[in-house]
Amino acid sequence: MVQKILVANRGEIAVRIIRTCKQLGIETVAVYSKGDADALHVQLADESVCIGEVSSKSSYLNMENILSAAINTGAEAIHPGYGFLSENSKFAKLCEDCGVTFIAPTASVIEKMGDKAEAKKLMKEAGVPLVPGSDDEVTLSEGKEIVRKIGLPVLIKASAGGGGRGMRIVRNQDDFEKAFYAAKQEAKAAFGDDGVYIEKLIENPQHVEVQILADKYGNIIHLGERDCSIQRRNQKVVEEAPSMLPVKTRRAMYEAAIKAAEHVGYENAGTVEFIAKDDEFFFIEMNTRIQVEHPVSEMITDIDIVKEQIRIASGEKLSLAQNDVRFRGHAIEVRLNAEDPKHDFRPSPGKVEVLHIPQGLGVRFDSFLYTDYEIPPYYDSMVGKLIVHGNTRKAAIQKMRAALEELIVEGVGTNQMFLHMIMLQETFEKGNIDTSFIQTNLKRLLHYET
Ligand code: ADP
Repeated sequence: MVQKILVANRGEIAVRIIRTCKQLGIETVAVYSKGDADALHVQLADESVCIGEVSSKSSYLNMENILSAAINTGAEAIHPGYGFLSENSKFAKLCEDCGVTFIAPTASVIEKMGDKAEAKKLMKEAGVPLVPGSDDEVTLSEGKEIVRKIGLPVLIKASAGGGGRGMRIVRNQDDFEKAFYAAKQEAKAAFGDDGVYIEKLIENPQHVEVQILADKYGNIIHLGERDCSIQRRNQKVVEEAPSMLPVKTRRAMYEAAIKAAEHVGYENAGTVEFIAKDDEFFFIEMNTRIQVEHPVSEMITDIDIVKEQIRIASGEKLSLAQNDVRFRGHAIEVRLNAEDPKHDFRPSPGKVEVLHIPQGLGVRFDSFLYTDYEIPPYYDSMVGKLIVHGNTRKAAIQKMRAALEELIVEGVGTNQMFLHMIMLQETFEKGNIDTSFIQTNLKRLLHYET
């Protein structure tokens, strides 16, 4: 097993990775920007290296400085977390060239799956069900032809897309051309790549994804699925495991996910994302990294996914066969953001004056907050994840309500009450959820006293 790991990230995921390393007796190196000198991940790591100015571009996205920090501190491996350089094949290749283990699949797999149009082509070969649409990037005239074939409404999506950006819904033929160029422009600005492809718009689907683990020897297992349908502007807000899909659909989805991983020679942890509607499901993309919502899978399987990632990257065989994975109860995660839901969810960073974290059996809080900590305004607004586990979905919802009632974060505006309102909705309790849930219920969800 590797002895020393550099964590190329910040915030809750850096803290979470360092914790597992400590439990495994692995030394850790934190990297930080000038805006993060007092961050919790820096305090918890054995060593730390400042890698640049406050902007992500000059720090957490600065490949040379991060690699130099790894080499200078003698770290044998880099864990990228999520976001930043986690799905950057150029960085993965640089690590490979420098003899530093990148805790991820190979650079070539990251590259293939990072191009969403290319990934769809590969998935078609593997026999994984796809949303009807173009199998590749399209020109305007090719796009129009596809629309004639599959019919409206459609979704124009960026090949390099992520975080719900560069997507355009088209419901009228006359709007297609304008939306096509708008999507291209947005994709170019956000990702430096204006390639787009077309998908049939599946109205109000469920977002369900399968967590997989694969070692270097062709062994692949799944850790079940997560429902991430509670989204705002295509960004996840609440995630749970298992989903409410029928067992038969879930089994077919696991099979498809394993086939997908097999076909591309996948290794390490990854997620195969699908949208599901009426017991049918379609591949949308594969994430070649640990995901924000991984704890719900950990809670129902008792498997530490970061630990498995490190073992796999160290060249060890999977420690479990599929039959050894036991699924137990139900887990829910909510994303706590420093934002003001009542003012269009605008970011509201600040200084944490009082912090009280709920505790108890099956309650977990993954965060980087501490009392008197000043949340820097430069990065993502997510400041923590509250995760609960119960024997049943109903018990988990009740536990989450109680945990959200107990949590205190003062000095900073958060979406805590908004999350609590989600937990109180009858439709949520009944499990009648799809990706339109927040939009449909927005007025009701914002109806709380501050
Ligand atoms: P990104 O990489 O930007 O996150 P994804 O392809 O993962 O984009 O899609 C994000 C979300 O957008 C999905 O969870 C789903 O809610 C919605 N979505 C994506 N594709 C479709 C589709 N064809 N029909 C309906 N909704 C979709």
